[in-house]
Amino acid sequence: MNKEEIFKKLVDICGKENVSIDDADLIATGDLVAKGLEAFFKDVSFKAGFLVTPRNKDDIVEIVKLANEHKIPLIPRAGNTSLAGQVLPVYENTIIIDIGRHMNKIIKINYEEEYCVVEPGVEFLKLQEVLAKKGYFFPAEPGSGFACMIGGMVGNNASGATSFRFGTTRDYTRGLQIVLASGKVIQTGHHRTGNEKSVAGLDLTSLFVGSEGTLGIITEITLKIQKLPKSEISLAISFKDIDDCFEAIEEIKDMELDLALLEYIDEMTIDGMNKNFKYQLKEGIIDKKMKIPKRAGTILMKIIGPHAREELEVVKNTMTTGKHAESPPKILIFDIPLDQETLWNARHNAGPGIVRSLPAPEQPRMFIPAILDIAVPPKRIADFLKMSKEMSKSYGFIPITFGHVMDGNVHLISAQFVTDENLAKVKEFQARLIDHVYSLGGTITAEHGVGLWKQQFLEKEFGKETIEVMQMIKKTFDPNNIMNPGKMALGDIPAIARIEGMEEKR
Ligand SMILES: Cc1cc2nc3c(=O)[nH]c(=O)nc-3n(C[C@H](O)[C@H](O)[C@H](O)COP(=O)(O)OP(=O)(O)OC[C@H]3O[C@@H](n4cnc5c(N)ncnc54)[C@H](O)[C@@H]3O)c2cc1C
Repeated sequence: MNKEEIFKKLVDICGKENVSIDDADLIATGDLVAKGLEAFFKDVSFKAGFLVTPRNKDDIVEIVKLANEHKIPLIPRAGNTSLAGQVLPVYENTIIIDIGRHMNKIIKINYEEEYCVVEPGVEFLKLQEVLAKKGYFFPAEPGSGFACMIGGMVGNNASGATSFRFGTTRDYTRGLQIVLASGKVIQTGHHRTGNEKSVAGLDLTSLFVGSEGTLGIITEITLKIQKLPKSEISLAISFKDIDDCFEAIEEIKDMELDLALLEYIDEMTIDGMNKNFKYQLKEGIIDKKMKIPKRAGTILMKIIGPHAREELEVVKNTMTTGKHAESPPKILIFDIPLDQETLWNARHNAGPGIVRSLPAPEQPRMFIPAILDIAVPPKRIADFLKMSKEMSKSYGFIPITFGHVMDGNVHLISAQFVTDENLAKVKEFQARLIDHVYSLGGTITAEHGVGLWKQQFLEKEFGKETIEVMQMIKKTFDPNNIMNPGKMALGDIPAIARIEGMEEKR
């Protein structure tokens, strides 16, 4: 089928206003990772063939049937914030199915039985706003909560800094409605009901959560919701010495506080957050100056629950007496809701803030996306963070590190100028670091997913036989390989997703 014929069929299905072949819609400019990839693959533009905005499930069924019959690649897309190239098209004539434009309704919320049913294009923030009015929330919050949608969160099994306490998107997904590659519609789990517990049959819901659009297209989602914590207090505790900071983290862990968040951030991340505070002040979002002292290591934390205030006093007391008495850390307390919101907005947007706080570059800068969200066993996180920072510096890069210390998830960004020499160094650095992560029993991705970017590492993480089982599952659901092909190591890895030189160096 040629491009013109596909276009005509798509228009017949969705209407002219819901099909685009304009370059502006087809080139993946929104994906931050496309920028990172440009440095590695200079001639690649990641251009789709078509962008469709289906009105409902029936449109999707017809699009999928068309694609399956003619073996046309499909990529379901929600908020387009993925960081591993999940929504980048790699094959000709790919149809991007953008579900955010029309399929964005909250179908029902049952507060009594604590669940809601939503379409995949519902924005995370919108859902939180509606739930908060009745004192509820959907707790699996990623750093991109300001821009992502529930369909994409399910697609990536999104989670964040509070996951050690509240769990990931998978933990809240009770059931799904899915259009399979054949065009058949199935329901998994206990979709549209308040059922809490079941061991009936294979757990297809869990399989689809985190499948990155490679197995089917999700058209409805049932999510567990829960009551908002009664009270919350946030703190920033800044240390002159990085070792003192990590020791204090261990002390805090032992205090058995009701914590929703415990995070280490470095000086560069503080720069980024302080830039964001300034921005929020300038834009009139806040009306008072805020700043976190720039020191070697800072702990960000959030205490929740009915005893939050007493627990705050315990933390303050411990951090200013005994061995801390001589050189106590600086403690900032954010207890009114607006201050807390300001703090966490600044933290979630630390990435763009950091970019703005770096000295103006003489040449384009690149970051290394493949190691953005590695994780190691939590007990190893302090050593790993220090080691990776030193290793990054030894290559002449600017390391930026922050980590969710309770679950071992390290965010490591290394910035450097785009030059051929640096490109070679980046590949070596990345390969060495990933080997180290695996030697500790860690993972290449704890949050952002595999997508295009990280697939070549999966075999090393799980072994060939396990990858073959994943590929068999993919074949069962999608025999013609139309669902987000070329991702997650579920078939042949496309040439553009191979970072040549990586294998030999490992
Ligand atoms: C600044 C920043 C911070 C981030 N922080 C985090 C973080 O803390 N934790 C985290 O987990 N991630 C994080 N991310 C990555 C990403 O934003 C999240 O995983 C997010 O949930 C993706 O949602 P989205 O709506 O943008 O989905 P998209 O990027 O549009 O899609 C995500 C995946 O889901 C699939 N998909 C979308 N819709 C459907 C559907 N209807 N059916 C089947 N599959 C579908 C897509 O094909 C894709 O594979 C961050 C990204 C940025 C830019």
